[in-house]
Amino acid sequence: DQAAAAHGKRVLLAAPRGYCAGVDRAVVTVEKSLDLYGPPVYVRKQIVHNKHVVATLEKRGAIFVDETDEVPEGATVVFSAHGIAPEVREQAKALSLKTIDATCPLVTKVHREATRFASDDYDILLIGHEGHEEVVGTAGEAPDNIVLVQSPEHADTVEVHHPDKLVWLSQTTLSVDETMETVRRLKQRFPNLEDPPSDDICYATQNRQHAVKQMAARADLMLVVGSRNSSNSVRLVEVALEHGARDGHLVDYADEIEDSWLDGVTTVGVTSGASVPELLVRDVLAYLAERGYADVETITAAEESLLFALPTELRRDLKARG
Ligand code: SF4
Repeated sequence: DQAAAAHGKRVLLAAPRGYCAGVDRAVVTVEKSLDLYGPPVYVRKQIVHNKHVVATLEKRGAIFVDETDEVPEGATVVFSAHGIAPEVREQAKALSLKTIDATCPLVTKVHREATRFASDDYDILLIGHEGHEEVVGTAGEAPDNIVLVQSPEHADTVEVHHPDKLVWLSQTTLSVDETMETVRRLKQRFPNLEDPPSDDICYATQNRQHAVKQMAARADLMLVVGSRNSSNSVRLVEVALEHGARDGHLVDYADEIEDSWLDGVTTVGVTSGASVPELLVRDVLAYLAERGYADVETITAAEESLLFALPTELRRDLKARG
């Protein structure tokens, strides 16, 4: 409305935001598995860390389980985008499960780095969050060689066996700046620490953080759409606050926004994590428009066009069906 416009209320909308190539592939993998094999299709862990996505797939007949041994013998199970330790694959084999692996290819890349460095007898400092599914999966590739580093502070105390044959790798969804600070501190203690052959923090994580950095200083309030267990979404709130946003919140749905957050707010920044469907962002924009924040300016930090092919085993079955 005109009165609101006169007060300069506006939204800065980050681009890129939302679905990355790995999430898109994982969600489509479950959808196509349901179409092809019929429900139920079991999914080990949340296919991607988003409440809405999981609830939507559950309605279509996906059954989410925590561990492989909860899947009935011979059934079909999809492994989530975050990847699995080799022992999970073995458990599935022992139970004669039909497996479809939706691990993001960019996570698989880190697994390959871990196995290669381990077979060359390196100690590996894996920067990441303890207990996160991706870290559990990557660490499972080389449990004897990998030591977890959880934060810059942890870098000051972590111990390794072979400080002269040492490489660092990382989880794909960390804060780029915090990770670089961790590496800086590690290198002070371990001057021979080698860098990974390529970035482990993935393009999608980096681009979403870049966009937030470009708008944070202008935002009185930053709203990030995403779930609490989504590492890259949580990082977006932190990055916004570190780069000048006055306030910031993570919400799964528009109805979690509290009107009081908007008190005295002229500019609202909006973005979403890599596992978040765009319709949830649309709901947030509609909520804001109703309160006078109808003027939307898109802040574009990068163009994305990456697409991943579906898992081989699913493509084969889709082709066989014709
Ligand atoms: Fe893959 Fe990155 Fe998306 Fe994770 S956030 S699924 S690593 S593209």
